[in-house]
Amino acid sequence: MKSSIMSLAVSRHHRVAACIIAGFILCVVLAVLPVAAVVEPTIPAFLPLFAMAVFATEGLTAYLLWTQFMITRQAFLGALAGAYAYTAVTVAIQLLVFPGVFAPTGLLGAGAQSAVWIWAFWHLGSPLLMVTALMLRRALPASLPERGLRRAGLALLGAPMMLSLALCYVAIRHAEWLPQLVDDHSYRRLLHAPSGIGIALITAGTLLYLVFTTRLRTMLDLWLAVALFAALGDVVVSMVANSRFSIGWYVARLESVLASSAVLGVLIWEISHLYRELHAANARLSEFAARDGLTGIYNRRYFEERYPLALAGAHGTQRALSILMVDIDHFKRFNDTLGHLRGDECLIAVANALQASLRRSGDFVARFGGEEFAVVLPDCEREMAARIGENLREAIARLAVAAPFTDAGRVTVSVGVATSSVDAQAPAADLLAQADAALYRAKEAGRDRVSIWPAAPRAFAPAPTIQRRLS
Ligand code: GH3
Ligand code: MG
Ligand code: MG
Repeated sequence: MKSSIMSLAVSRHHRVAACIIAGFILCVVLAVLPVAAVVEPTIPAFLPLFAMAVFATEGLTAYLLWTQFMITRQAFLGALAGAYAYTAVTVAIQLLVFPGVFAPTGLLGAGAQSAVWIWAFWHLGSPLLMVTALMLRRALPASLPERGLRRAGLALLGAPMMLSLALCYVAIRHAEWLPQLVDDHSYRRLLHAPSGIGIALITAGTLLYLVFTTRLRTMLDLWLAVALFAALGDVVVSMVANSRFSIGWYVARLESVLASSAVLGVLIWEISHLYRELHAANARLSEFAARDGLTGIYNRRYFEERYPLALAGAHGTQRALSILMVDIDHFKRFNDTLGHLRGDECLIAVANALQASLRRSGDFVARFGGEEFAVVLPDCEREMAARIGENLREAIARLAVAAPFTDAGRVTVSVGVATSSVDAQAPAADLLAQADAALYRAKEAGRDRVSIWPAAPRAFAPAPTIQRRLS
């Protein structure tokens, strides 16, 4: 089972989906550019909704990437989590200082330049941190040492968050240190300012670096590229939007949501994909643990788990349950004469024949130990159990596995039958001991026969062949 999003190869479906989304982003950007600066009515709820969506998706992505980092110890994932945490913190602060959301001029003593500079730091820092993460992937060993991992993880997550706080502090308290981007309510200057052009170039450069260094072979790389492409669309449209609440401004905010949810989407997809794999692996493992290594039928462990349940079920429904102990006769001599390998083949043949002879879905056979098998027959009265025991004996006889040292000249089995009382539930071990006692009696009586415990009831009239064999 693959353990990390970084090792999941891109499927054709994902490649197609990513191309469709990228094409959609491109179409939206091209369609919006000519009308980006057209001012639309102000929707006061839009910004808080948009910022909360971005904050939640970036924060969740950071958390999921960080947990993957702690499991896989890949520094790249920790650094990428840091990039997402940086954006989450920056968006949250931008919401606080945005004019008209919590206060007419924004909280925290923000000035007119604060919100737009926080936007600039967000769109500048996010791709730069991503590039750093991509470079770390190439520079650092595939997985960091276990020792000091948590501290490294906290540093990878904490440092970008501190950086965001520091930059936001400058944007809020010392906006005069920064070039002016907003005149009145327009940020037209952004289009020509080195900071605006720089942001667009850095986002595009990060996207190209990602494409050329990874060839987008893994799921994470592919969806990171989609996120960066959406972020580039966001930057380009924002730059030509000129002012808040213009068409471009609204569309750019939606592109931001798309950019922030691309990686979260694939992380959620990956978690459900891995959950499915885990479930299947678990089922395989349980099945494997329940099977006998040599014969492939259920093993003693499975028997011990299921038999008491079946017995309790029989008591609950007031139905009889029968148990058959089947033992290969003179098997030690078989091994001694023909060798252990032939002995193993014989065991496999007998196990398969027993298994194939059971017809009802609740019935099961398990290898009880050595050359001994236990058959559990729920809802089965004594007479029926004796008949089934005889069928099993005949099925082994039909195998005709040569055993020249026996009277029959072939491998035979002895069968002991015990049936639970419908009125009083006997302990599981007692019923087993009864079946074992019956088997012992079959052995004593000459083997190759069925014996029932305590003795054949008077009302039971076995078929002639059974009559011959039952003791
Ligand atoms: P009886 O008719 O009284 O049952 O005699 P038996 O020889 O079958 O019984 P015994 O308990 O004396 O011998 C059982 C033999 O089964 C001994 C052991 O070597 C053999 N055996 C147990 N497990 C395996 C196995 O996995 N493979 C092989 N080849 N032999 C096995
Ligand atoms: Mg035996
Ligand atoms: Mg035995």
